[in-house]
Amino acid sequence: MRIWLDGALRDADGARVSVFDHGLTVGDGVFETIKAADGRLFALTRHLERLTTSAEGLGLPAPDLDEVRRGCAAVLDANPMALGRLRITYTGGLSPLGSDRGDNGTTLVIALSETSRRPDTTAAVTVPWTRNERGALAGLKTTSYGENVVALARARELGASEALFANTVGALCEGTGSNVFVVLDGELHTPPLSSGCLAGITRALTVAWAGAKETDLPLDALERAEEIFLTSTLRDVQAVTRIDGRQLADGPGPVTAEAMRIFDERSAADFDPR
Ligand code: PLP
Repeated sequence: MRIWLDGALRDADGARVSVFDHGLTVGDGVFETIKAADGRLFALTRHLERLTTSAEGLGLPAPDLDEVRRGCAAVLDANPMALGRLRITYTGGLSPLGSDRGDNGTTLVIALSETSRRPDTTAAVTVPWTRNERGALAGLKTTSYGENVVALARARELGASEALFANTVGALCEGTGSNVFVVLDGELHTPPLSSGCLAGITRALTVAWAGAKETDLPLDALERAEEIFLTSTLRDVQAVTRIDGRQLADGPGPVTAEAMRIFDERSAADFDPR
């Protein structure tokens, strides 16, 4: 496996990041996960915009997007595969926290791993912990994912693949690595960004393409929902057929099936040309 680290392609086995890197020691970093199909990246420009927004939110210098693009292309060329997840990790490096960060203080890693198409359906659970919609990291895609790791482990113990959070006022927010959509009285809704959820790229496309409304919803809307689905780069649009042990259906409901169809059809045009 060849990865990109700080300006060059290297063997993953021999690549080194300092043990003092703040991405490792305090989670001072941001990341993107991008779908790679046959050497092309899905919605690369949107991902790079979000990487920049997350970096700025964390006080990191803006990433050098020319280098990021060069690194992505080099990693894709060096590791051919049909379907992969490309991860860009960008950290504060060794700059002293709280001081002005220099240009040389950051670390950039780009790595690719093989993946397979997600199943059309899955199970999800709610968790007793909350997302802080007013916190400094709200809406940023940072490497501080400890809460998500704990929540996902809980979901897996319960036989589910995703855990859903409420925010501090009890409104439905998002999953550990996905956004959530619900069908209520035949209408498609998703929580607004003010709920504290990440501005998911699959979410934005699904809002536009499937005509979902952005609505503040209480967590217990999940108990009343006729259909629920998740969106993310790696799940695309995925039906939730069991929520907290309640079986909703055997397969995707009609609104979900239509959102899946539209997403599959239109997203094919959003792979960046090489
Ligand atoms: N919410 C969180 C917390 C995530 O980590 C992710 C994706 O990684 C998403 C939502 C979905 O975002 P996207 O569709 O851009 O993958």
